Amino acid sequence: MNKLAKLDHQFVWHPFTQMRDWLKDEPVVIVAGKGAVLHDIRGREYLDGNSSIWTNLHGHNHPKINTAIQRQLKKVAHSSALGLANEPASILARELVAVANREICDLRYTINESYAKPPRKSRIANRKLEKVFFSDDGSTALEVALKLAYEFTRRTRSVGSNRSANSRRSEPRFLSLEGAYHGDTVGAVSLGHIDLFHKSYSGLLFKTDQVMSPYCYRCPFNRARPERADAREYRQCNWECVGLVEKKFTAQKRKANPYTAFVFEPLIQGAAGMIPQPPGWLWRVTEIARRHGTLLIADEVMTGFGRCGVESREPRVEGQATNQHPLATLDSRPSTLFACHHEGVQPDFLCVAKGLTGGYLPMAATLTTQKVFNAFLGEYGEFKTFFHGHSYTANQLGAAAALASLDILQSNQSIRARQILEKNLCDELQTLWSLPNVGDIRQVGLIAGVELVRNWRTRKPFDLRERAGIRVCEAMARRGVLTRPVGNVIVLMPPHCTTPVQARKMVRAVFDSVREVFGRRFW
Ligand code: PMP
Repeated sequence: MNKLAKLDHQFVWHPFTQMRDWLKDEPVVIVAGKGAVLHDIRGREYLDGNSSIWTNLHGHNHPKINTAIQRQLKKVAHSSALGLANEPASILARELVAVANREICDLRYTINESYAKPPRKSRIANRKLEKVFFSDDGSTALEVALKLAYEFTRRTRSVGSNRSANSRRSEPRFLSLEGAYHGDTVGAVSLGHIDLFHKSYSGLLFKTDQVMSPYCYRCPFNRARPERADAREYRQCNWECVGLVEKKFTAQKRKANPYTAFVFEPLIQGAAGMIPQPPGWLWRVTEIARRHGTLLIADEVMTGFGRCGVESREPRVEGQATNQHPLATLDSRPSTLFACHHEGVQPDFLCVAKGLTGGYLPMAATLTTQKVFNAFLGEYGEFKTFFHGHSYTANQLGAAAALASLDILQSNQSIRARQILEKNLCDELQTLWSLPNVGDIRQVGLIAGVELVRNWRTRKPFDLRERAGIRVCEAMARRGVLTRPVGNVIVLMPPHCTTPVQARKMVRAVFDSVREVFGRRFW
């Protein structure tokens, strides 16, 4: 075994990894990367099929980001944000505010199955995100939003309330989605609803509520029989999932303590299994939340920074299944970088991390409104300060990388590359429908999930203990493509610089690996 691999086996404990399995085989030791390719110590090459756990945007060793970090390194690597400002973080905050408030296009849905009226542009535009609180990673970005929303609500609600501010029943309450995953710190875990990850810590957590999220492929309200298409396209339902959200909010209102905040991943839930929302779901449920005076916390840790694709400028038409990909005609006009904006939704808290630095350095941000900020202003002795912060908050190297990444993201070249990659991925993924162990293929922009099943006609899932996803990913690695499954879902989320040939190789690796693992047993 290679010397570094031995060291790893001896000393390192890996995240989300059964270490007994890990210690059986020599690990891949990465020593270099360029574009979408990673090189290991044995000289093998791999395509980075999940952008190094959803972080990398423009490829490894990107000259622009390298230069930005090197330039900053010559000045200073880090100085504290507790009591000091710094150059790149101040500029980055301004740039983040600019992209987070880009005018959101007014989506005109043709509503056949009307549930609520579409949002009015003015209401969206009025909610401006103006303040940026930096932290280190996705979990901390969520912790910050959670604490701010909690305290903001306590401070603004207790006035005039007929309940004592300390009453247990008037404590701020949070609502998040079934299958939610918002990170691994205790607050973020409290918002999560994946038993496998979260249940053992229940004694450590505070109580939050959950509500049904749309999982069209396995939705009990979807009356459609399985087809060889994304379940969102052929679903037959009456938006019962939205009805359940409405019910949940109404029930909480009856307790005279409306939800403080609704926390969600917009357009697609990642760790839940790459579960996309049908068009129109997001604005419908956020409208309900708004009507109940509930704050919106958007977790764009995975979906942010263009991952959900370049916005289609055509108004989306619901209920109209079309075989034509929305990007059949390419459009190079500037687009939003955030998933919320695809549905005309502007949250009160926008949490970003992963891709913020282009996948180079750990840095995160929580953006919020002036109104929330104002609730923390006061005389020193009033102790209204937001007592929260981390040692590396607003780190200069991270901020320099993030500025370079934002610059690249907004270039025409990057926009066009994303459009082309999205379309290539879409075209290549179609080949997987011929595999009987592929039940659903769902793509949102540059994110794709392929759900493996025992039998596509019955949607019968594999037991997690069969490690179906893990085995397919291991077979993919042998073919030179790296990714990690989420349960039985194979994730493809390539860096934006992935070429058509590389995209084809990634999907081909899924195809060949599924056949290798399951053979023809289920044909
Ligand atoms: N939110 C979402 C949607 C995520 O996907 C993740 C990480 N996968 C997190 C939060 C937590 O981010 P981190 O691992 O950087 O703490």
